[in-house]
Amino acid sequence: MADDLCEHCRHPFDPHVMIATTGDPDDGGMMICPERDCTCVSTWGANGNPAKLVPAPEEVEELRRRVHHGEFG
Ligand SMILES: [Zn+2]
Ligand SMILES: [Zn+2]
Repeated sequence: MADDLCEHCRHPFDPHVMIATTGDPDDGGMMICPERDCTCVSTWGANGNPAKLVPAPEEVEELRRRVHHGEFG
């Protein structure tokens, strides 16, 4: 559904990259917008729980850089 917009940055929700920070999607993780220059980063959880592992800001920044280089998704 291309109509779904991210509540944080208003870019289309669909291409946002979901990263399971523990490697297990049941633990949740980070969601990062792949749009160039967009700083949209948020956490997500599974089964009604918050993300189990939220990386340090510099690690989040590294993940965002890799997403913007097309290394995910
Ligand atoms: Zn965005
Ligand atoms: Zn977004």
